[in-house]
Amino acid sequence: MRGRIDRFVRSRVIPREALLDGGGPAAAEALAELRGQAQEEGLWALPLPEELGGGGLGFRAYAELAEVEGASDHGPAALGSAPLLDVTMLARHGGTAVREAYLKRLVAGEIRTCYAMTEPDVPGTDPFRTGTRAERGPDGSWVVTGRKWFTSGVAGADLVTVMARTGGAPGDREGLSLLLVPTASAGFRVVRELPVLGTGGQYEIEFARVRVPADHLLGEPGDALTIAGERLRLGRTLRCLRWLGQAQRAFDLMCERAATRHGSRGPLADQQLIQSHVFDALLALRTTRPLVHEAVALIDAGRDARTEVGLAKVAAARMLQQVADSAIQVHGAAGLGPDTPLPGLFRTGRAARVLDGPDELHITSVARRVLRGYGRDGSGSGRSSGSGSGSGPE
Ligand SMILES: Cc1cc2nc3c(=O)[nH]c(=O)nc-3n(C[C@H](O)[C@H](O)[C@H](O)COP(=O)(O)OP(=O)(O)OC[C@H]3O[C@@H](n4cnc5c(N)ncnc54)[C@H](O)[C@@H]3O)c2cc1C
Repeated sequence: MRGRIDRFVRSRVIPREALLDGGGPAAAEALAELRGQAQEEGLWALPLPEELGGGGLGFRAYAELAEVEGASDHGPAALGSAPLLDVTMLARHGGTAVREAYLKRLVAGEIRTCYAMTEPDVPGTDPFRTGTRAERGPDGSWVVTGRKWFTSGVAGADLVTVMARTGGAPGDREGLSLLLVPTASAGFRVVRELPVLGTGGQYEIEFARVRVPADHLLGEPGDALTIAGERLRLGRTLRCLRWLGQAQRAFDLMCERAATRHGSRGPLADQQLIQSHVFDALLALRTTRPLVHEAVALIDAGRDARTEVGLAKVAAARMLQQVADSAIQVHGAAGLGPDTPLPGLFRTGRAARVLDGPDELHITSVARRVLRGYGRDGSGSGRSSGSGSGSGPE
């Protein structure tokens, strides 16, 4: 299966990357064609539940495929596994009406969702400061008011999961909830696109008294940080797997270039400073991969994976940035130009160090948790030490 996914991504998705990156009707048509091929070949939605139309693969088994599927940013969408996070969240925390209305359609690729937590006016690393509010009307429905930004993919989405304050005041640790908002609702607006290092896909959005049905609240009022923590741990681990696939791609390109680019002193590969790039990149890849799979195994077993996900997230983001940077260096100007995917891979690596929580948040969270294990109880075990960093959902 891994070989089949790898071939699908390399022979069908990667050649269409430029078209898919461009967006618009041509990209939508290319994506629809790829999805049809994935369905015909039995490669569709492999990690999604069978009863909803997916392939029913468990997370650990899927993790073996996610790296090759994620070698292109478009792989998960083309192969139907992109909704895994949202389907998992809605299946666990959505009420009956939400599950019936959306789950099968999400798995079939008929509708798309996105996630809006970060706001322009408060630090994303401190969700307690969330300014977006949801107020309950007399009929039980919610009225959402606020602004979010860097909401990935919201322009083409049908639903957006929004973190909003349903009780208390900014700064309170209680009173945050998640609501599922249809983007067709009156009062919802995409304010502008926010290009990241020159590429699109992120947006600023506004909720101006958007009315949301009572049953579109996920879990209970006040459950946001628990649900978001669960979602972020799974989401970060999935991203790490995909970043491994992208780094492997940059590494392969670097080695091919080094072996085939000849000067009067022979191939670049004969230069020791080039060999040093290759060694350091391989070391980064090989030391990160087991960390990521350790996080996968703990999540799959339903165990506390906060430390391992934090380690994996920082390691994988740094690793992708480093490997893509080395591959660019070995390519010279060609590595910065339009003829290789390296600029895009580098951009992903750089953004990886900020999105889903910047490096510093994970470093301090993991270190505090580990150090607590060396405290008064004298256990010395970083993993048995308890209840989070105190700085928001990890
Ligand atoms: C490409 C991309 C896609 C994104 N997609 C989404 C999305 O779909 N949905 C969404 O809700 N958000 C999304 N984000 C936003 C992202 O999750 C936030 O940018 C991130 O959580 C950091 O929040 P912030 O930008 O407000 O930074 P701030 O919280 O203002 O932090 C700024 C800097 O302060 C430092 N800092 C913060 N905390 C600590 C600490 N504890 N210790 C030491 N230093 C610290 C770090 O250097 C950090 O980079 C995306 C961002 C990018 C770049």
